[in-house]
Amino acid sequence: MSLLSTAMSSTFLAHCRTLLGDTYVLTGAPDMAPFLTDWRGRHTGHALAVLRPGSVQQVADVVRACVQWSIPIVPQGGNTGLVLGGVPDTSGQAVVLSLARLNTIRETDALNRTMTVDAGCILQHVQEAAAAHGCLFPLSLAAEGTCTIGGNLSSNAGGTAVLRYGNARELCLGLEVVTPQGDIWNGLRGLRKDNTGYDLRDLYIGAEGTLGIITGAVLKLYPQPKASITALAALASPSSALRLLALMQDHCGASLTGFELMSSFCLDLVVAQFPHLPRPFAEPHAQYVLLELSSSESEEHAVGLLERAIGAALERRVIDDAVVATSVAQSRGLWQLREHIPLAQAKAGKNIKHDISLPVSCIPAFITQTAPLLEQAFPGCQLVCFGHLGDGNLHFNVAPPEGMTNEAFLANQDAVNRVVHDNVAKFHGSISAEHGIGALKREELARYKSPLELKLMRTIKAALDPQGIMNPGKIL
Ligand code: FAD
Repeated sequence: MSLLSTAMSSTFLAHCRTLLGDTYVLTGAPDMAPFLTDWRGRHTGHALAVLRPGSVQQVADVVRACVQWSIPIVPQGGNTGLVLGGVPDTSGQAVVLSLARLNTIRETDALNRTMTVDAGCILQHVQEAAAAHGCLFPLSLAAEGTCTIGGNLSSNAGGTAVLRYGNARELCLGLEVVTPQGDIWNGLRGLRKDNTGYDLRDLYIGAEGTLGIITGAVLKLYPQPKASITALAALASPSSALRLLALMQDHCGASLTGFELMSSFCLDLVVAQFPHLPRPFAEPHAQYVLLELSSSESEEHAVGLLERAIGAALERRVIDDAVVATSVAQSRGLWQLREHIPLAQAKAGKNIKHDISLPVSCIPAFITQTAPLLEQAFPGCQLVCFGHLGDGNLHFNVAPPEGMTNEAFLANQDAVNRVVHDNVAKFHGSISAEHGIGALKREELARYKSPLELKLMRTIKAALDPQGIMNPGKIL
């Protein structure tokens, strides 16, 4: 990618202003600032401009201009991504292309159980629009008030309901994409069966903006459950949690919609940082599992299922204790304990974070083998281990030993990553379960993917984006 002279960048920006209007071509530092720093505040990049198209045609026009001037494009939705995928590097050569103005719900087909939306629609608005039609759009994550469907699909987001409904990929039937050449591919098909060659939709999902720009999507809707019920179980170990998962799945089948593991260290951290959140058990326990059940029949049905399953778990000594939420407020309170873990970590200081996935059956062995290796290498380090156990996804974060500064501990980042990710590889897991690769984990990807897999990925990238203008420096 060639460096742009000042004269050429002025001509490019003037052309963008003609395409979008002055208001939607941001070049002033204060206007651009929110688009240049990532959500966790770890990186601030520079950009030639932030472009805010208001239609699919304008996205295509802007991409064509970028092709003409060889300007790299960084697509951005809600900028809540956690791997530095949606922010530019520090060269100042790229434009950030914000999809936020493409925020129309285009169509709802309640009988086909689909909704066609612009990529810039906020996830929570899509959930609300689905609910207004008596349907459920089940993708749910803590950033849902800010993140966009385009970002969710581009990072193949997971969240709390994957166990029952799958991740973003499984919730999308069709896409509309502006290619790196500025063509508009209309793949907005609401089909549950479509075996007509290579699945381009699947290629763009999870591509983190490196292959094209998602401008629209056909999303899958589900019937609204009649009732949901939440419980927190206390247990002795990750192995007990695995046994509980099997027991719950046997008893409750598809009604089990959430199964979240958190260690006592996580709960202590949350209660210490957010004292208004009540501790659910009088006595401490080693591990906790947050359970959610949904019923398509009735609240009595959900309560009955849960009570029978918990009764069996207590009888077989799989769990030591359990509390069941008897109101929406109590249910919210239990979920808040889980959702506040990342916030409590952020308040307590810096962590070295890992978003890993493993075969579900290997999780206890992974934890019991990796924790001592970390302790041996970094005595006193503290493990903040929680996650979507039902999906085999752990957030396996490592906090500094008491008394050590964040800076001193973060100097060990590569060595900590090596212990954790080498062990993930040993168990045939993945170094990124749901957050993606972005710029943050690019080197880790190169280390753990096979040379052949990397070569195939580069071949796809070169075929679709030969000029290399789509989100360079991300993933590959
Ligand atoms: P951005 O951050 O703007 O972008 C993410 C990536 O997608 C970037 O590479 C960007 O270039 C690309 N992109 C964005 N829009 C487009 C588009 N239209 N076309 C092409 N490329 C595009 N993730 C989970 O999976 N599960 C969780 O439980 C979860 N919890 C989170 C909780 C919090 C508090 C936060 C801050 C984040 C969480 N995330 C989680 C991260 C998650 O990836 C993002 O929240 C979300 O999916 C990204 O959407 P976004 O619109 O913010 O995308």
